[in-house]
Amino acid sequence: MQLYNIKDLELKNKKVFIRCDFNVPTDEYNNITDDRRIRSAISTINYCLDQECSVILASHFGRPDGAIDMKYSLAPVQRRLQLLLKRDVKLSKDVIGEDATKKANELQNGEVLLLENLRFEAGETKNSQELSEKLASMADIYINDAFGVSHRAHASVEGITHFFDENSKAAGFLLQKEIQFFATLMKKPARPFVAIVGGSKVSGKLEALVNLLPKVDKIIIGGGMAFTFLKKLGYDIGASLVEDDLLDEAGRIMEQARKLGVKFYLPVDVIAAEKFDAEAVSKAVTVQEIPDGWMGLDIGPATVRLYREVLNNVQTVLWNGPMGVYEMERFSRGSTKIAHYVADSYATTVVGGGDTADLVQRIGLDEEMTFMSTGGGASLELLEGKTLPGVEPLVKSADDE
Ligand code: AMP
Repeated sequence: MQLYNIKDLELKNKKVFIRCDFNVPTDEYNNITDDRRIRSAISTINYCLDQECSVILASHFGRPDGAIDMKYSLAPVQRRLQLLLKRDVKLSKDVIGEDATKKANELQNGEVLLLENLRFEAGETKNSQELSEKLASMADIYINDAFGVSHRAHASVEGITHFFDENSKAAGFLLQKEIQFFATLMKKPARPFVAIVGGSKVSGKLEALVNLLPKVDKIIIGGGMAFTFLKKLGYDIGASLVEDDLLDEAGRIMEQARKLGVKFYLPVDVIAAEKFDAEAVSKAVTVQEIPDGWMGLDIGPATVRLYREVLNNVQTVLWNGPMGVYEMERFSRGSTKIAHYVADSYATTVVGGGDTADLVQRIGLDEEMTFMSTGGGASLELLEGKTLPGVEPLVKSADDE
């Protein structure tokens, strides 16, 4: 799949609208605690500026629910952008109002304007035609570099693309990299290829599991989702997270793995706790011996050793979903250990965004991975085999190639 390439566009003297994903985490004082998403967009922004054009940046930030709420202002992002770009960045007071329109009109080559939070406009998440058109009217060129929201048909992601022809829209470098990385991974992975799939529920990862099965050599299961599989196999899982309505589906997945010759690994022991609480009494038990009413909140030490063996000889690792309730220190050990094994391996290592990227970053191993995706939901949809609504309008047709 080829996307319209930013390098094929004539940008000189143009106004370039770049949809970014600046939805960064902040602390209670509004300080940015992790600016990876901003840093990831810098190469596209600088490339455009080097072509002697002006740049309009747009992003959502938090959930202001379609109304102006200065708690969700992009002002902290503006400050960080100025530091990273080493130039002045103007921030408009609104998205498509008088101030934004005036600032966009007056923008000169080499200047950067950041529009206020796109979600101050109710039409953004509704993919409003009117909002799409107004945003499009500010610029000559449209670039999508917001991988993290490309699975959403929102005005600045999907609707806006209809106002630009193939010579005036493209994917930014970040979006290109994310899409190409996942495409190569799914089509031509170096083998053996293992997928580590964790997280809370089977339902959240069901489509991804089904799509991955024919492509991988091994699957390692962790997190809350493991208990639905274990229950299907007849284990007494106590009060652990389970989806009873998916027991049959879990059985089908294991059966399909067997038929395809995919090695399917489940935890052999867990850290079980009396209740879902960071301070709860807890102990390591085999999956045969989970006490009545207790819940498994992490994989246990024997599982960690088993999974290390499984990871030993692989060439490609795809990891999506934590092995336990990593937000609570007591139940984070399984995920931490697995993160170290993945980072230490000589394989190509790909980490899905969201929780998994968050935990890898907390441990400080992000630089050790081959690729860390910037989008949790978006990368999951790619693993499910879907084409993202924000990417589809940027795919070159056979006639374009
Ligand atoms: P997901 O959004 O489906 O990737 O799930 C991530 C969440 O799963 C994290 O917030 C973890 O705390 C949670 N999780 C992982 N393992 C368990 C478990 N054994 N029981 C309950 N929640 C879990």
